[in-house]
Formats: sequence, C-alpha cells, structure tokens
Amino acid sequence: MTLINENFLKLQAGYLFPEIGKRRRAFQAANPNAKIISMGIGDVTQPLAPAVIDAMKKAVVEMGRKETFHGYDDDGVGYKFLREAIVENDFKARGADVDIDEIVVSDGAKCDTGNIQEVFGIDNIIAVTDPVYPVYVDTNVMAGRTGAAAGGRYSGIVYMPCIEKNNFVPELPEQKVDLIYLCFPNNPTGAVATKEQLAKWVDYAKKNKSIILFDAAYERFISQPEIPHSIYEIEGAKDVAIEFRSYSKTAGFTGVRCAFTVVPKQLKAYTKDGKAIDVNPIWKRRQCTKFNGVSYITQAGAAAIYSEAGKKQVQETIDIYMNNSSLIRKTLSEIGYKVYGGVNAPYIWLKTPEGVGSWDFFDKVLNEAHVVTTPGAGFGVAGEGYVRLTAFGLPENVKEALKRIAAMS
Ligand SMILES: *Cc1c(COP(=O)(O)O)cnc(C)c1O
Repeated sequence: MTLINENFLKLQAGYLFPEIGKRRRAFQAANPNAKIISMGIGDVTQPLAPAVIDAMKKAVVEMGRKETFHGYDDDGVGYKFLREAIVENDFKARGADVDIDEIVVSDGAKCDTGNIQEVFGIDNIIAVTDPVYPVYVDTNVMAGRTGAAAGGRYSGIVYMPCIEKNNFVPELPEQKVDLIYLCFPNNPTGAVATKEQLAKWVDYAKKNKSIILFDAAYERFISQPEIPHSIYEIEGAKDVAIEFRSYSKTAGFTGVRCAFTVVPKQLKAYTKDGKAIDVNPIWKRRQCTKFNGVSYITQAGAAAIYSEAGKKQVQETIDIYMNNSSLIRKTLSEIGYKVYGGVNAPYIWLKTPEGVGSWDFFDKVLNEAHVVTTPGAGFGVAGEGYVRLTAFGLPENVKEALKRIAAMS
C-alpha cells in the first residue's frame, strides 16, 4: 500500500482564482454582451524588450553552431556573464556588496521562495505576513511544518497582520520565530518598507539567530528614491537575509522564466547542538541536485536587460504600468475610495466601503462595472475588507474600467 504525503491533505483548496473564474463565467453566461475587463490579473501584458529579443535570437543562432553551442551550464548556478551583470547593476549600483558566488540563477522566484524551506529544519517556527503570497505558506504546509487549517489560518505558523494601523508593514512578533518571509514592494498590498523598518527586522533576526527570506520581485517598480530595492542596502543584512529576485514582473519574463536568489556566504543556520553551518553551499547543493540550470538562450535574454538599450526599454514598460497605477489611485481616490499602494508597486489595495466584504464588493464591481478584481480575503484573514487591483492591464482597458467603476451606484 502506497502512503500519500498527508501534509498535502491539509492544504486548503486553491480556492481564490478558481472561485473568481467561476463567478466571472457565470456573469458572462448571464450577460453574453458584457465586455469584462480584468483588473485582477497578476500577469504582465506588454511584450518583451527588443534588446531581449535580439539577444535571444543571437543565442539561438549560437546554439545552432558546433563552435558556439551550449549544453549544460557547468556550475548550474547561472552563467558568469549574467551573474556579473546582476552584481554590477542590481547591487553595486545601490551600494550593496554582493559577490557573484552568492547568486544562484533559477527559473523563477516562485520555485525559489517555495524550495528554500527545504534546506531548513522541520522544527523552525515560520512567520508570514497576513495578507500573504500563498506560496510561502503552502510550501511549508507540504513540508509538514504546520498543523491543520482553521478559519483560514494554519496552526504552527505565526501570522503578522498587515493592516492600515501599521501601514501594511508588520510589527516584530512577540514570540521568537526562525524563518521570516517578507515581500516588499508587497503583493498584494503594494506597500513598501523603509530602510528603518527593514533595519528593525535585521536587528531582530540577528538577536534571535533567525533568517529573513526577502522577496524583492517587485523592486523595479519602486519610484521613491529613499525606498530600498534590496535588503542588502541595510547594514548587517548579509548576516541574516536571503533575497529573491525575478525578471517576471520587472522585465515581462513570466513566460520566459528567469530569476535569481542571493544567499550570502556569511549567512549561517545551526545544527541542533548549535554548530553554525554555511547556507550558501547547501542551497547550491540543493539546486544542483534537483535543477539543471536555466537555458543559455534565456540567460542571454536576461543579461540584455542590463544593456543600455535594455534598461531604457524595460523602464518604458514599467512606466506604462506605473502610469496605469497612478491613474487607478487618482481616479479611485477622487470618487471617494480609500486606496493604498500603487506608488512603488503595480498593486492597488482598495478598502471596500464600510460593511461591504471583499467578495461582496467583488460581486458588485463585476455586476455593475463588468470589472474583475481580486478579493483581499483570498490572501489572508487580514485581507478581508479589501480588493486588489493590478496595474498590469492595457492602458485603454484600465481607463475604460475606471470610467465604469466611477459610474457605479
Ligand atoms: C510574481 C511573483 C513572483 C515571481 O515569480 P516567478 O516564479 O519568478 O514568475 C515572486 N513573488 C511574488 C510575491 C510574486 O507576486
């Protein structure tokens, strides 16, 4: 008899997006002429930068010649040309000192943020924000680090509410936690953390020998110069933090797949008897055992993001999304909604009117404006009373959707 991994049975059904789809289809069936616009999509809509396409075409040609063909990427951690460009542009340019040996290139930040927990002991106490990117939670459930779910929360996880009162940046937990997942700029709230706020977390992690798992997938959307793009802009963070980056949202790579994770060489975790162990070689060991590297063509495309032309083109695309974002913020505030985020992130966190729940508001906007949003409650208990709007739509659709929302009763 084959036994199943019963931890998977604890997972709450992937409820949010199927339920949104179900309600959308039901509405469309009842209103076949309605032109539904989605402001719920977490995917990009603009094409890849021409510099990326050129680099990938060139790489394809190289793959077709014996002299320039590439097989397995020898180290499995990413080509040096890409890791060097990362070090120079993403870190040195911001005063953060990261070495190329600390970078491991991968096919996505979803996999990396999901897989990283494997290298840490099963008895670690994990802390997540509420609302949260579900990957952090579900992968720990699968691993067996939690009990059952009740009322939308798993026992064994420390949830840190991100609410209006704390500007959607969590307070330090009262109890001691070991692994702390933070995501700034945040999906879904669009909130950012200041250097001072992150410094408190770094300090906490040092005191408690904890590790911060910092998801910076949206750093390219930061517009305010004082907001840190990397946790390594905070003094001492290299002792206690792993950082995740992705080209998915920053350069439209959701369908190409390329990301990287930074595991500092000085970062330690401990054996039960207190011996300090370097995490960097353990993560590489894990990756090289279970993953054989990102394609040469993809890495060549990713490196082109850092060329002069690539930088300019990527910025133009980000500007399209952030213009959407400003327009969403401005229009919704003008008609009396309370909105958060959207300044340094492509997400707007809209507070639903008094007494109207996330799903009720979702239904109202779908029925009256024919616009799909994402109910905040789907990201956690503390997301109740909000909906998430994304700025990834086509500008003409965003304008039309806002016009319709403004005309709602
Ligand atoms: C979209 C997203 C990512 C990126 O995932 P990829 O696997 O790199 O596409 C990572 N973290 C968060 C919070 C995201 O929303």
